[in-house]
Amino acid sequence: MGTFLNSPHSAPCMADPIMLGTVALDSIETPFGKIQDALGGSATFSSIAASFFSKPGIISIIGKDFPRQHLDFIRSKGIDTDGIAIGNKTFRWSGYYEFDMNEAKTRSTELNDLATYDAQIPESYRGAKYVFLGNMDPVQQLKVLESMKHPRLIVLDTMNFWIQNKKEDLMRAIKRADILVCNDGEARQLFQTANLVKAANKALELVSTAVIIKKGEHGALLFTNDFHFSAPGYPLEDIKDPTGCGDCFGGGFIGYLAHHNIMNAESMKKAVVYGSVVASYNAEGFGTERLKTLTMDDIKQRYQIMKDIREF
Ligand code: AMP
Repeated sequence: MGTFLNSPHSAPCMADPIMLGTVALDSIETPFGKIQDALGGSATFSSIAASFFSKPGIISIIGKDFPRQHLDFIRSKGIDTDGIAIGNKTFRWSGYYEFDMNEAKTRSTELNDLATYDAQIPESYRGAKYVFLGNMDPVQQLKVLESMKHPRLIVLDTMNFWIQNKKEDLMRAIKRADILVCNDGEARQLFQTANLVKAANKALELVSTAVIIKKGEHGALLFTNDFHFSAPGYPLEDIKDPTGCGDCFGGGFIGYLAHHNIMNAESMKKAVVYGSVVASYNAEGFGTERLKTLTMDDIKQRYQIMKDIREF
């Protein structure tokens, strides 16, 4: 296993939330263009989204082929990279979208270093209160869980690849999470039902607090045993590439909660809307392009519009 990627002059680390996931090179084609070997990965998108609210730290692995400028960009967002190990070859994902931009079609998944990855969690991360077990091998999600000292909130995200290939491990990990985040297709696949309310109820038997079902451009549903909440999708006119929107949602959600360190119905609802807002911006550019210019003022402005949309 690779060595840790210690940033040369890092101050004592106060990273929170801790974000597990992939740091990837993505090749994507949509009806509006394509990119090759661009910066991507579930930990990349989720950490950048979280960085607007708090100081995330990543747990992942990259290869020696990973371009330096991508790392510099991640660090420029105040993201702690001490938990990124270095192996030989970076995880690569290639996919495309047709006019229904809600569904990514995978061309290839090259696990590369991820195939033998054994997550190592820096000592400085273990006291963090907020943990995002992003889209990654559920065995590694479990490993991170076991290394954290006393997390206050564990949010778990997953996708069809892991539901198909590692369902048993995934179910074990979900049972230890507080909040499960998945999209509508994954919820149906995971709980073997066409009905999302039934899927949510089955999920609530496993997790301690909530399940969030993302519905792409149609918003997100939050279910708990006490209340339900529905966030609208932002009416975007200019979608270029939705890759990473699900991760941006999860990152914005946990980043907001970590910043306020309050877990109640109101903070969870606001976190859902902030997650949706960051995700909506992400779809406006290819890869991480739009996130590079996104500001907190942009986020606040769209948050207000989302509030107005659901007022009646
Ligand atoms: P999403 O938010 O679902 O659009 O996630 C897109 C990101 O997930 C891309 O940047 C990919 O690099 C990454 N990805 C694709 N397949 C996997 C996988 N099997 N495990 C973890 N990350 C993946």
